[in-house]
Amino acid sequence: MKCRKCREKAIIYMPEHRLALCAACYSPWFLDYTERTIRKFRMFSRTDRILVAVSGGKDSLSLWHALNALGYEADGFYIDLGIVGRDGYSEQSKRRCQELAERIGRRLHIVRVAEQVGAPIPDITDLTARQACSACGLIKRYLMNRYAWEADYDVIATGHNLDDEVAVLFSNVLNWNRGYLARQYPVLDEREGLKKKVKPLVYATEKQTTVYALVNRIAYIRDECPYAVGATTLSYKAILAQLEHQAPGTKRRFLDGFYQIRALFAEPEAPELIPCVRCGQPTTTEVCAYCRLIEHVQRRRGLLSLPAREIETLEGSESAADSAHAGISS
Ligand code: SF4
Ligand code: ZN
Repeated sequence: MKCRKCREKAIIYMPEHRLALCAACYSPWFLDYTERTIRKFRMFSRTDRILVAVSGGKDSLSLWHALNALGYEADGFYIDLGIVGRDGYSEQSKRRCQELAERIGRRLHIVRVAEQVGAPIPDITDLTARQACSACGLIKRYLMNRYAWEADYDVIATGHNLDDEVAVLFSNVLNWNRGYLARQYPVLDEREGLKKKVKPLVYATEKQTTVYALVNRIAYIRDECPYAVGATTLSYKAILAQLEHQAPGTKRRFLDGFYQIRALFAEPEAPELIPCVRCGQPTTTEVCAYCRLIEHVQRRRGLLSLPAREIETLEGSESAADSAHAGISS
């Protein structure tokens, strides 16, 4: 197959665009495609300071590289989750982010969950019996927002791609999660202490971000996070891939169609946000979920250092207190 632009040998065919491109023509196309998405959703301008949440994977690193190639002021933000897994997952991911930071000459901020919360993700899971991804999601959202305020960034950009977004949409529709549907959009404007959040790769497929990373020789971590294995979204992705194969463009049509009717799911009144009495970050409860998580981790840590007999007594009174607060959501 030949490149549609220069007739050289193509390295990628994108049936949804009926477009084949060679290595030299691919990057300019990808950059233009990303720029058009940024403009369509009015994500940011060249005077904005952008904080890119990087994980070491192909999507976030391709996004960081692309934004800098497009001339945007984009720095990286890496959260060290402290996940060891096979071959030191967090260590490897961090190294990939540091390598790219050096190459493009941009600043990479690094924050360690173990320092912020008092324990890395695997220990938090053990100590609180909370699912790893639920604790991890809460911590990442909180730290990104707080850091963006402290370091005076205008907007937070994440590397979610089309396949991610469509799988989440599929799941939200299957379960009719009205609250999540109301908030599923590539731009969430700044409000009451929450920084603006954007997803500039929302129309780029996983294949496209992978090819961008390969063509630009961006080293990224290929292993999935060990906690991602078996996630429901992976089976949704497989079903959607089949539909896309049969009718190219299905994913994009599904997502764009949803954006057009998304207003139907708007919550009549978004819950009022108030500053957390401990940390000052926006929340709907007196003490935010993040501060309560820290407290839980510390309490469990303290309990574990006590003799077994005392733990039993204290845990008995703790569960009585918990049930009295059963109405508080996390
Ligand atoms: Fe965090 Fe779960 Fe994603 Fe791993 S798979 S990085 S634990 S949200
Ligand atoms: Zn708080």
